[in-house]
Amino acid sequence: MKEKTNSRQLLLVEDSKSLGLMVKDKIEAQLALSVSLATSFAETRRLIADQRNQFFLAILDLTLPDASGNEVVDYVLTRNIPPIIFAGRFNQKLRDTLWQKMIVDYVLKENPQSIDYLLGLVRRIANNSGVKALVVDDSRSSRLELSNMLTIHRFCVYEAGNGEEALPILEQHPDIKLLITDNDMPTMTGLQLTKEIRHRHAKDELAIIGLSGTDDKTISTQFIKNGANDFLSKPFSTEEFYCRVNQNMDLLEYIRQIKESSNRDYLTGLYNRRYFFEMGKKLLASAKRGHIEVAIALLDIDFFKKVNDTHGHDAGDLVLKNLGAVLLRRFRETDIVCRYGGEEICILAVNMAGDSIHEIFNGVRENIAQTTMDLGREKIRITVSIGLCVEAKESLEEMITIADEMLYAAKENGRNQVRF
Ligand code: GH3
Ligand code: MG
Ligand code: MG
Repeated sequence: MKEKTNSRQLLLVEDSKSLGLMVKDKIEAQLALSVSLATSFAETRRLIADQRNQFFLAILDLTLPDASGNEVVDYVLTRNIPPIIFAGRFNQKLRDTLWQKMIVDYVLKENPQSIDYLLGLVRRIANNSGVKALVVDDSRSSRLELSNMLTIHRFCVYEAGNGEEALPILEQHPDIKLLITDNDMPTMTGLQLTKEIRHRHAKDELAIIGLSGTDDKTISTQFIKNGANDFLSKPFSTEEFYCRVNQNMDLLEYIRQIKESSNRDYLTGLYNRRYFFEMGKKLLASAKRGHIEVAIALLDIDFFKKVNDTHGHDAGDLVLKNLGAVLLRRFRETDIVCRYGGEEICILAVNMAGDSIHEIFNGVRENIAQTTMDLGREKIRITVSIGLCVEAKESLEEMITIADEMLYAAKENGRNQVRF
């Protein structure tokens, strides 16, 4: 397995200072990366030698006042920094020489779209950092070549010599996002492997790209029909390989973003009701089998109508946002904190120590009561009432009904309290 550091620092080498600064500004503004700009080879060497710098990627101009393009490319490569070439000219020979050097990609400085392409590429490489990929090929040399190409694009790469070896690696690393498999292998072909994997890993969670050097023209359709996301016929160029990999990883990322936003409430960033029930049902089933423990809390802001009436509806929205932030900080990622209704929050807590659930939620209640919420012109505090259902019941609905009854009792009993 090959892994690199998770640095967010990028080296930009560009002798035109105005272009350099423009690209630096765009990358920093759009991608949350920090960019160091060098305008000469000497400065490049100085920046790399500085121990405080850890570059995960370099963007290189090929014409510098004190060096030829190849010199700079070779230099960053010896320092294990993958380079993107960003240059004003290319001919076929230069292109071939550069691709032999294991570069990330090259981008022609021809028009404003080139900068957009460059930004997309940098985003892709930054997102790849630490993402797990698995290469399956019986030929040691192709495996090494594929693995090197992916490592340059910052993937964390695992290798297997055939389909059978690949399965336990996937089992051990269910978060592998990209699988590149040859078809023609002695034990379990790429096609058989693809079919097998799809029982457990969906197409939008794990991208599979099949490879084959066979003359059989039906192999690409066989791969796709068996669940592969894409197929490449051998031999292929490095550039083509990267195009396919990037395209497939971008698609996975778009789907992840869409899924994520469809699970969240827009105002508070908390999960929405749909996600709550979808995940909650699975967690309750797991609890009924005795694997985990679940509890439900229903939390409602006290006299929230008065906040709206006194400070305005926008201020009310800010209070909800603040409350969401407080709750996201308090609970673990395995808990589901959901905006259940207008100013009502439902929390499904996983494995919260049974006898201290009440104390924990009382702590949450106190925490909220002590939080000052900044509404711009004024600051206010709010209190909440909380109703609990501390053990698994037949259905989520039943648990919520119990929590709701407890919430009602808390309100009746004077608010700003927890009931179970
Ligand atoms: P109680 O202590 O009994 O819960 O009193 P309350 O005023 O909080 O309860 P009530 O149910 O009477 O009022 C809830 C208010 O929450 C009414 C509604 O306008 C407000 N609300 C619901 N959703 C939103 C929202 O998204 N933004 C804002 N600003 N207010 C909201
Ligand atoms: Mg209320
Ligand atoms: Mg209410």
